[in-house]
Amino acid sequence: MSSSFYQDLTSISLQDKIHSDSTCESIFSDSEIELLPLLNAAYQVRKTYHNNTVQLHMLNNAQNGNCPEDCYYCVQAKTATTDIDTYSLKPESEILAEAEKAFQSGAYRYCIVMSGRGPSSKRVREMANTIRRVKEHFPIEVCLSVGLIDEPAAHILKDAGLDRLNHNLNTSESHYPNVCTTHSYQDRMDTLHAAQTAGLACCSGVIVGMGEKVSDLVRVAKELRQLEVASIPVNFFLPIEGTQLSEIQSVEQNGSSILTPDFCLRVLCLFRFLNPRSEIRVAAGREHHLRGMEVMSLYPANSMFIDGYLNAEGTAASRTLQMIQDAGFTIETNGKISDILQDQQVKQNSVLLKELPLLRPRLDSNNSKLC
Ligand code: SF4
Repeated sequence: MSSSFYQDLTSISLQDKIHSDSTCESIFSDSEIELLPLLNAAYQVRKTYHNNTVQLHMLNNAQNGNCPEDCYYCVQAKTATTDIDTYSLKPESEILAEAEKAFQSGAYRYCIVMSGRGPSSKRVREMANTIRRVKEHFPIEVCLSVGLIDEPAAHILKDAGLDRLNHNLNTSESHYPNVCTTHSYQDRMDTLHAAQTAGLACCSGVIVGMGEKVSDLVRVAKELRQLEVASIPVNFFLPIEGTQLSEIQSVEQNGSSILTPDFCLRVLCLFRFLNPRSEIRVAAGREHHLRGMEVMSLYPANSMFIDGYLNAEGTAASRTLQMIQDAGFTIETNGKISDILQDQQVKQNSVLLKELPLLRPRLDSNNSKLC
């Protein structure tokens, strides 16, 4: 493929124009489009808006399991048979202690995640109080994922100091009925609109590898562009035994997965080209699907989780920090945290972080949950 093709990919993004569907789909179908120049084209866009910085996020699974919804990919769904530890909302003292650990380990953002369709108004008020306390004690950005919410709830959370609301679209509108039947794509869109009306920044992403077509990925990437979401977590589906989707896939795919490292990196490039200003986070499945090519995700993406996911183990924080530094990227921190990231401190913090699985539901290392 000529160098002008890659230059056009970059310049169209930098001019705030939107690439055609056929160009987007060719990234996956045209064998002449090589990975390295493609990554470089995406990197030019990333560098323009995000320099060489990487934001680190740490998750707290504050409420696990017992969800009445039937998301086919989720171990917490009512239909999943995966054996997980379930618990209702953790006490506030625990959420605060984990916020402190996130702060001390260099996380830019602390993400509180709760299972369920959506919170009651009493739970919204409780979460608002907890968010207020976290913000009083630690200079860390707070993101909350609580399922479906309406505008009054969004206002209460915004007034408490919430920085971002996470609510993933997960896939395209047309593919949505194939991954969930208890709520609709429109329900998810309504939540994002409620959050934006209340003045909350939105984090909304996808799970790749749920039987969608490339055209579905292009469609949802363009939808997120239209919504101007601040942050896009790109998860790569981890087939957990007991979830509906893993059962379907094990029959249909006969053990093979489309999620090769090459494919995953192209997906990240697609999201970067279509959402040049957004924070693109390489999320769940980073270690499992990208394998030895994990570090290359930093060229399109500018954000990562450290120390695992909701129900899945990830790489130790110290290794992720080392990988980022080795590749010449710098970690975006909140104020004084930069002192904490000195080598010696990173080693100390990795000891702290290894204790975190004790605060999370214990699962086999192969298991994970994507929300
Ligand atoms: S993804 Fe969220 S809403 Fe869906 S089943 Fe899991 S916890 Fe419930």
